[in-house]
Amino acid sequence: MRFATLARQPDDPLLRIIGQHAADPRADKIDLGVGVFRDEEGRTPVMTAVKKAEAILLETQSSKSYLGPEGDIGFVRALGDLVIGDTVARDRIVGLQTPGGTGALRLTAELLARSGVARIWIGSPSWANHAPLFRQAGVEPALIPCYDVNSQRFDLDGFLAGMDGAAAGDAVLLHGCCHNPIGIDPDAAGWSAIADRIAADGLIPVVDLAYQGLGDGFAIDALGARTILKTVPEALLAYSCDKNFGLYRERTGALFAVSPDAETGTIVLSNLLALARANWSMPPDHGAAIVRIILGDEALAREWREELETMRQRLASLRAMLAAAGTIGTVDLAAVAGGKGMFATLPLTPTQVQWLRDAHAIYMAGSGRINIAGFNTAAVARFHAALHDMAA
Ligand code: PLP
Repeated sequence: MRFATLARQPDDPLLRIIGQHAADPRADKIDLGVGVFRDEEGRTPVMTAVKKAEAILLETQSSKSYLGPEGDIGFVRALGDLVIGDTVARDRIVGLQTPGGTGALRLTAELLARSGVARIWIGSPSWANHAPLFRQAGVEPALIPCYDVNSQRFDLDGFLAGMDGAAAGDAVLLHGCCHNPIGIDPDAAGWSAIADRIAADGLIPVVDLAYQGLGDGFAIDALGARTILKTVPEALLAYSCDKNFGLYRERTGALFAVSPDAETGTIVLSNLLALARANWSMPPDHGAAIVRIILGDEALAREWREELETMRQRLASLRAMLAAAGTIGTVDLAAVAGGKGMFATLPLTPTQVQWLRDAHAIYMAGSGRINIAGFNTAAVARFHAALHDMAA
């Protein structure tokens, strides 16, 4: 009887909130919990360019026979060209398709473990899955507290000082843009300082780029990742297409590895393919085929970029609306305007989060993390009123 040895694991707190929100009968309830984009009507629509690519795929796909553990190579190439471009010599880059950004991070963790990396430094707080994902693969997370929730700032000096504890050969995790859960990224000078430090200390950077196009714009959002990749001899870039193509459940992502030379790159790829084979054999096809079709068709690519830009602008304008109220009680909303992407974390206690849920049907993570896309114009006004009520 082996199962009796297992300890019960805690429920995912965010999934619990989703369930509570679904069961709440109040008509004006607001869901700021789950991390998906929503339009003004609260829908998470399939992008028009995706629908069109799906129609093309339906028409033209002649087989569903297996691909290999590398997935759709046309997708990997097109995405690599788009995201990395000529930042690094092509023969130093290898890549493969993965089940979402999470799959790319999982392969990253296993590759690091196989390469003898024992520790990964992560600015804290970070996406809730980062630490368990690396730990489970045998790479111990070392957290550097450097995001201040009260002022909603990234403390660059604190992050760099935190890296004093790192030994050569350790890994460092960086959110490429639109930090989850704080929404604050390093500026250009900050990225350069981080890249120089990583290179000087012989660390290996892992860039997690899951929200490209939802921050300052598609090209600008890649600048941090590019700064890192061009400064160091070895790096990993875990990419998700699940947010910027709205593909979520299609699990669409890729992992790119930068090596000192082509020969090493070939060895790295052979390891990644072996790890992928042992994990999921090969990734799901549909989402990657859609992205390949979009990126290979000028008109569709333009349409996708325009839709993505509309999403980005919606987030930016909601941030401005939220921030316009300034400080309500102890909550400084003005800082939300300086953030990027879908998330911000408000300085709310768990008791306040609970009170907003009970008294006003406003649902968010217990940490105070909000999904900006969960608002619309009316919900922003309701949120401001609820904070005033809480402060009264
Ligand atoms: N990295 C970060 C920072 C995320 O927030 C997420 C998803 O929420 C992911 C990676 C994983 O994305 P995917 O859904 O493609 O696995």
